[in-house]
Amino acid sequence: MTETQTFSIASIPGDGIGGEVVAAGLRVLDTVAKLSGGAVDFDVTEFPWSSEYYLENGHYIPEGGLDQLQKHDAIYFGAVGSSDVADHTSLWGLRLAITQPFDQWANIRPVTFLPGVESPLRKADDTDLDWIVVRENSEGEYAGMGGRNLSGRGPGNEVALQTSLHTEKGCERIIRFAFDLARTRTTKKVSCVTKSNAQQFGMVLWDEVFARVAKDYPEVETESVLVDAMSAKFVLHPEDLSVVVASNLHADILSDLGSALAGSLGLAASANLNPERRFPSMFEPVHGSAPDIAGQGVSNPIGAISSASLMLDQFGLTAEAEEVRQAVSNVTEAGILPRDLGGDSTTVEVTEAIVTQLEAIH
Ligand code: ATP
Ligand code: MG
Repeated sequence: MTETQTFSIASIPGDGIGGEVVAAGLRVLDTVAKLSGGAVDFDVTEFPWSSEYYLENGHYIPEGGLDQLQKHDAIYFGAVGSSDVADHTSLWGLRLAITQPFDQWANIRPVTFLPGVESPLRKADDTDLDWIVVRENSEGEYAGMGGRNLSGRGPGNEVALQTSLHTEKGCERIIRFAFDLARTRTTKKVSCVTKSNAQQFGMVLWDEVFARVAKDYPEVETESVLVDAMSAKFVLHPEDLSVVVASNLHADILSDLGSALAGSLGLAASANLNPERRFPSMFEPVHGSAPDIAGQGVSNPIGAISSASLMLDQFGLTAEAEEVRQAVSNVTEAGILPRDLGGDSTTVEVTEAIVTQLEAIH
């Protein structure tokens, strides 16, 4: 008998639709384990850290919580956000409280066009469109540096400073990561996005590091594009894109644009990676807690399920990851779509259809 490879997963459903979509992803992982015939297993531990938990306990992550997370091979995250807690409190209290100490400096967000899904972009020949946004995830505009009321002169005169931090090492590692990723793709190209015409320090450093690193990858085509021009390019010439690398803020915005172009925010997957693997990486859909539809059972589980497939990739289970992606694509092609994609299937119906496809193609 072959030995079972067991991967331990810390699941954090969080707020709103987080619980529904994480349950969907875990159902798919369960199926992957079952179909492996004992070759792989996933050992899942759930952590109840949410905004409700915060309001009761005064913190999102209890003392020793990060040590508990660290024992796992991966973290599977739903969403955080609640009308009862300020957005920056919940974001820094839970999501960034994991990505920062675990040095998950590379955030990848694939933009994938699925058959059967209407997109504002879609033309008859657009089905092959797919590109990946690589986001610097540890510094930049979200470094948390700055302060308020710096004028010291009271109401009406407040001055706030929000500083971007860009280090040469931080730029270099994410740019290299983007090139390494581009090398594995059919279209070997990296687009570097900055705003170096208007921001002459950090963004110029990005451009310089990009030009230097590019020399080590002669087989990869490159371009440098300003973020405003890149926004237009996403819409007008997406066929030119393969890997797009950008700072924390720019990539955050561009990846939302990408997911909307692909059909819905509910489709978008992401991975927060610690490429050195000193800490567990975290996999999560790009969307938030979606309080407007929470509890109705109609959320789109595809972003979360596709994030689980990125987790399988990181575990080295690439064949299984590919099968999950194929199952998702078969289901959308068959017109089994959740409400945000114009269909009327529930979260559970879409998930079960993906499970059935997975069983069929395995
Ligand atoms: P948060 O504060 O947690 O970021 P939000 O409301 O600002 O929440 P999202 O949760 O990302 O942002 O939701 C934005 C919009 O997209 C909402 O109208 C929501 O219903 C919709 N949406 C997001 N995710 C999904 C999903 N998985 N399925 C269906 N609709 C979704
Ligand atoms: Mg939001």
